[in-house]
Amino acid sequence: MAANDRCLFCRIISGEIPAKKVFEDDVAIAFNDINPQAPTHVLVIPRTHISTLDDLDEDEANVIGMTIVRATQIARNLQLNSDGYRLVVNHGEAAGQTVFHIHFHLLGGRNFGWPPG
Ligand code: 5GP
Ligand code: ZN
Repeated sequence: MAANDRCLFCRIISGEIPAKKVFEDDVAIAFNDINPQAPTHVLVIPRTHISTLDDLDEDEANVIGMTIVRATQIARNLQLNSDGYRLVVNHGEAAGQTVFHIHFHLLGGRNFGWPPG
């Protein structure tokens, strides 16, 4: 889907809004969350503008799959893999989604409760 000039994360991808990037390639970018909920809180997002999980179909399987693989590589690079980490997607208002460009929260560096809040 085309970049959306009203979308906060598309504007971070284009560089219009600054962010502390920790990774980027042709499929995905990752940057530190502005309001971290754990010692490590990175947002891993596809460059493609997709609003929510509910907008996915099989055409996006490759880009979403690659974005998840990148998240796991970032987790390994940050040495989160041995202790454990969370990879979270919020869908819709009830789950707390506030930015409507699909993003994976990569959270680590502390213990997490289950069930989540
Ligand atoms: P959601 O609530 O949609 O699952 O997650 C959106 C996330 O984006 C939140 O954790 C929020 O702190 C983060 N966020 C919102 N605005 C900005 C921003 O301008 N820069 C960065 N780096 N993160 C942002
Ligand atoms: Zn977007």
